[in-house]
Amino acid sequence: FNVPAPVNEPVKSYAPGTPEREATLAAYKEMFNNKIDVPLYINGEEIRTGNTVTMTPPHDHQHVVGTYHNADKNHIDTAISGALEARTKWANLPWEQRAAIFLKAADLIAGPYRAKINAATMIAQSKTVHQAEIDAACELIDFLRFNVKYMSDIYKEQPASNPGVWNRVEHRPLEGFIYAITPFNFTAIAANLPASAVMMGNVCVWKPSDSQIYSAKVIVDIFKEAGVPDGVINVVYGDPVMITDTVLASPDFAGIHFTGSTHVFKDIWKKIGNNIHNYKTYPKIVGETGGKDFIIAHPSAKPQQVATAISRGAFEFQGQKCSAASRVYLPKSTAAETLALVKKDVESFKMGSPEDLSNFITAVIHEGSFDKLASYIDQAKKDTDAEIFVGGGYDKSKGYFIEPTVIVTTDPQYTTMHTELFGPVVTVYIYEDNNWADTLKLVDSTSEYALTGAVFSQCRYALDEATKALENCAGNFYINDKPTGAVVGQQPFGGARASGTNDKAGSILNLLRWVSPRLIKETL
Ligand code: GLU
Repeated sequence: FNVPAPVNEPVKSYAPGTPEREATLAAYKEMFNNKIDVPLYINGEEIRTGNTVTMTPPHDHQHVVGTYHNADKNHIDTAISGALEARTKWANLPWEQRAAIFLKAADLIAGPYRAKINAATMIAQSKTVHQAEIDAACELIDFLRFNVKYMSDIYKEQPASNPGVWNRVEHRPLEGFIYAITPFNFTAIAANLPASAVMMGNVCVWKPSDSQIYSAKVIVDIFKEAGVPDGVINVVYGDPVMITDTVLASPDFAGIHFTGSTHVFKDIWKKIGNNIHNYKTYPKIVGETGGKDFIIAHPSAKPQQVATAISRGAFEFQGQKCSAASRVYLPKSTAAETLALVKKDVESFKMGSPEDLSNFITAVIHEGSFDKLASYIDQAKKDTDAEIFVGGGYDKSKGYFIEPTVIVTTDPQYTTMHTELFGPVVTVYIYEDNNWADTLKLVDSTSEYALTGAVFSQCRYALDEATKALENCAGNFYINDKPTGAVVGQQPFGGARASGTNDKAGSILNLLRWVSPRLIKETL
């Protein structure tokens, strides 16, 4: 079988008068004003535990849009046994049947559910309509369609045989179940982590971020309508430590697909180590865990190009991307011009609620994130080796709004040059033009994380030097472009060091982690 050759889903414009704009605004209004009640999904059943938590949009935190039900330990055990019961039938379903389900899910998102998934992402995660369209619609559709293609490539790949000997490989799913822990910042990533493992014949227990449960519910409904059978994806919410400890205690735990913070991932890794004697098989550990992504400009770089990369790379999506530019190294000769251009661009950004489609920046995800960002901004206001160049304001009276903020520091080791903040704050260090080689060394030595990075130059020698010197600093390395906005099928995404296991989301490398191949040699 050949699966349809995927093409990236075109991004719709949402210009005034377009049908997508009308449909999404109508869905937003409807969903914002009518409360939903989100159950756990275990073994095909909707379970309402009565232990409820309210959901409020980050841009309007006193407005309740619904509730969800927290699980206790018994529910997690039931989710695990439900997954295991569903496993044999699902694993034995021909892959073409599984492919059809996920191609259908992509079509449902592209068509009838596009407005709904975008509106849910705008409400729950405070994304502008354009951010939601790029994430919850296009990237998710791309993940599903491209992964189906990669899946078919995996199943087709077979070893050589000789007359008298037939060698063949069965790309079996893992023996057990997969645990997916997913982040708030991308609806596409949240859906893809369970979906990519499940597509390869695995069953799963999925724990979405508390801040993404609204859009997770829309995804669950879409997957169900597309034909994912009961028990194959079980969705649970609640105390994260209790859920993780219960899951990792199961002898059938076979792998984790994770996006979240570095310290949680390291903790999980340790717990897996502590349980290793209980497992039937070595669990696969796949995670993406943050970044402190850089932009470095050579004196030959074009100031306008660098400035656009800073303002877009740092502030689009409220800076809540693992890939967001958050530390910048500018040469003294062009720094003033570049920073003036950044300031001009940033001052044109409108900030406010997503239902006003002219807003470019909305709220950060929750109070914890707001308070953390505000405290770093306050500290920079006090410190003598830092200065707020643009922004610096914040307001949480209605929603968690942080102004896009540029800090300029004279210390390359300044706190915000190496601490991940996950919000709309970027720090700039200005180096002497003749210190290019040393500045590359400085970037490398400050790269505890290694997710994305960008170098700007019009000089081939400088680009070559940077590409070599920074080879371990970024899993996704951009030349003369911002370090964000990887497109599925074009720039497989992921990083190393403290940024994760670099298993490249949206690529065949990732899907290969979810199989345990059996080689069969038959003598004819
Ligand atoms: N893939 C996204 C990008 O390239 C970032 C995803 C993330 O934040 O984890 O911008």
